[in-house]
Amino acid sequence: MAKVVESVLIGRKDIDLMCRRVAGDISRDYAGKEILIVGVLKGAFIFLADLVRYITVPVKVDFIAVSSYGNDTKSSGVVRINKDLDEDITGCHVIVVEDIIDTGLTLLKLKNLLQTRGPASLKICTAFDKPSRRTVNLEPDYCGQVVPDRFVVGYGLDFNRSYRNLPDLCVLADEEDSDE
Ligand code: 5GP
Repeated sequence: MAKVVESVLIGRKDIDLMCRRVAGDISRDYAGKEILIVGVLKGAFIFLADLVRYITVPVKVDFIAVSSYGNDTKSSGVVRINKDLDEDITGCHVIVVEDIIDTGLTLLKLKNLLQTRGPASLKICTAFDKPSRRTVNLEPDYCGQVVPDRFVVGYGLDFNRSYRNLPDLCVLADEEDSDE
């Protein structure tokens, strides 16, 4: 069943400004260093692509795929590595780029795992954050925008694997589309 997009929460122009601001902060903080950006698939792929183009220090990119949600909108609390990194991160300045932090469980587990691989530094960058939903002690080092406790889609984020291509961050209506 498809759902209806209720409203635009953050439009593409504001998202672009957000990317420029976060990339500026990262470029300033990592002046003179090279960064390894680790994108968390699949949701972070659009934010990562926008972000890296505004970063002015040297960047390498790798991806990791973890699953924490099924076809539901609630966290299962279980994190599984579906695709591991190709790169050895030992001695690298790693920034994990995520689409959204909700309970924080996914990133906390991922952060702990990556920390065991000996990076020179490890920081978290998220496009969106729902701090009101946090159940663990995890704060992003870089955050594009805090959002309210609503299930959002678009700009890489999905519902049942759809809606990732919407250029704006949108809120889904609770009811389902009656045509489907
Ligand atoms: P956490 O482990 O922080 O509870 O969940 C993080 C992951 O859950 C995100 O990477 C994302 O895949 C998914 N998630 C959390 N909130 C939302 C949301 O509002 N919309 C979508 N599409 N995914 C979400």
